[in-house]
This record gives sequence, C-alpha cells and structure tokens, in this order.
Amino acid sequence: MRSIVLLFLLLTLHGLFAAPLHAAANAAPSATAIAIPSNLPEVGFAILKTSRVAVREALLVPGGSLSKEIDSNFSAFLIKHRDEYFLFDTGMGRQIDAQYRADMPLGWRPFFKYEAPVRPAREQLEQAGFFTQNKTLSRVILSHSHWDHAGGVLDFPEAKIAIAPAEMALVKNPSRGPGGSWASQIGSAAIQWEPLQFQAKPYRGYAQSLDLFEDGRVVLVPMPGHTPGSIGLFLTVDSGQVYFFIGDVAWTVEAIKAGAPKFWAASAVVDGHAEQTHKSVAQLRATLQQEPGLVLLPAHDSAVQDRLGYFPQWVK
Ligand SMILES: [Zn+2]
Repeated sequence: MRSIVLLFLLLTLHGLFAAPLHAAANAAPSATAIAIPSNLPEVGFAILKTSRVAVREALLVPGGSLSKEIDSNFSAFLIKHRDEYFLFDTGMGRQIDAQYRADMPLGWRPFFKYEAPVRPAREQLEQAGFFTQNKTLSRVILSHSHWDHAGGVLDFPEAKIAIAPAEMALVKNPSRGPGGSWASQIGSAAIQWEPLQFQAKPYRGYAQSLDLFEDGRVVLVPMPGHTPGSIGLFLTVDSGQVYFFIGDVAWTVEAIKAGAPKFWAASAVVDGHAEQTHKSVAQLRATLQQEPGLVLLPAHDSAVQDRLGYFPQWVK
C-alpha cells in the first residue's frame, strides 16, 4: 500500500516538476558586475537570486495551471541594519553541484533541481566590490537548514551561522534528499553555529521573538513545522514598510491567501510536521488579517521578488 502511495506521489510530482529545460535561459540572471549604489538605506534589503527552476504553476499556486510554467527562485536576502550586514538564507552556493551529487539521490533529481547559471551570493557580493568597501558579513541567519537554503553556508567561513536551537537536531543528524539538511553543506566541524535565543516577548501575534538590534527593526520569530526550527524575519525598512520573510512556511503569497500553502504531494515530501505546519500557516494568516499592509516574502516566490527587484537594487 505504501509503495502505491509513493508511486502516485512520484507521478504527481513528475507532472508538476518536470518542466522542459528550454524555459531556463529566459530569466537567467546577468553575469555582469554592477557596483553597489552609494545611497544605501539605513535599514533595508536586497534580493540575491542565486538560481531558479521552472515548475508547473499548479505546484506553487492553488488552482494554478498544469501546463503553464512559473519560476521558483532560490534566493538569499542581504539585510542591512546601519553598519551591519547579514544574510537571511544563502540559496545555492559555490559548491552546489558537488553537494547535489553527494546528497540528492538519483530518483529525486527529476523533481527537485535547480537550473544554470548558478550565481552564488558570495560571488555576486564580490563582483559588486562588497568586501573591498570595508563591509563584512558578520552573520548568516538560516530560515531553516534545508539544502536549497543552506547551500552557501560554506562560502562564508568568517560568519556565524545563526539558527533556531530546535534546528540543531537536524544539523547534528544530516539527511539526504529534497527535504534534507545535507552533510555536504552543514556537516563541517568548522562552521561557527550560533543558536538564536528567543524570548517570551509577544510580537505581531507570535508568542516568542528575538529583536536582533533591540530597536524593533529586525525581529525574528519561530515558525515551526516545515522543519522544527523554521523561523521568520520581520524587517521594518526606512520607508516604514514592514516585510516578513517566511522561508518555506509557504512557497507563494497566493498560496497563503488561498489557505493552501503547498500542493499536497510536495508537502508530503518536504514538510516535516503536518500539524505544526498547519498551525504556523494559520498564525501567518491571522497576522496578515490583522495587518493587511504587511509584505510577505516566501524564499521561492518569484512573483513577489520580481516586483521588488534584485541586487544591487535595494528595497528601502
Ligand atoms: Zn525547506
């Protein structure tokens, strides 16, 4: 019985993920080096698109088309708070090809892939002269430790890698596959892990929070379910607009609004804990109802990210 369910799941996923490769070239990020603009925000962010994959719309948007394709992005978010810069997620890093060969089993590769060209966050920052302008990246915060978010951890050996304490269990026991936290990415003993100390301070409907700079501009909240230590980040930029980075709690804003965060077959593969995921989505919808002006940023949502623009453009 289990094998029939698995077969059905694989066939369903095949229909959704097996997008033809010819679509790949269109939206490929440009490889030209562009300098960081001088009028940077006090508090703001820039989206580093490291890779993408074309998938069936139905996978990402409830009621979406089975023939139409849309992009799923693999993005890192560069966040600036006054003199400090940090990343929220890394997307794909410099070693992604070798990591994928080591930790994505052959049978899963048709369904969970990324397309060339890969432009690692480190490379984009170096090309823009980021590290020659007395700027450093002190920290990389992971929304969670899955392979398509932690792929660039090894590219930032100088940074502390911050995660929720509940995520450490996955880091200590890496696993392979699409819902895995890969040893090839997060298994190195040299990584300087920093467990985030959440406090019992309610914030925007969340019972626990961590106000990183104690000025209310960058606030982390636990959003368990997709993984035990999944977290979200609220960022209040210079304009006063609040952005909520939600990792993989849902793949698109459309899906959240429809109350159907992920296509069932995909959720069965990647979401660790169904009931907790459901709770986190319900909490997210409640917060959004309270504050309809909040801008949600799922890690993979290309529609939202296209609208905001990409590095070296800043959202202020
Ligand atoms: Zn994930």
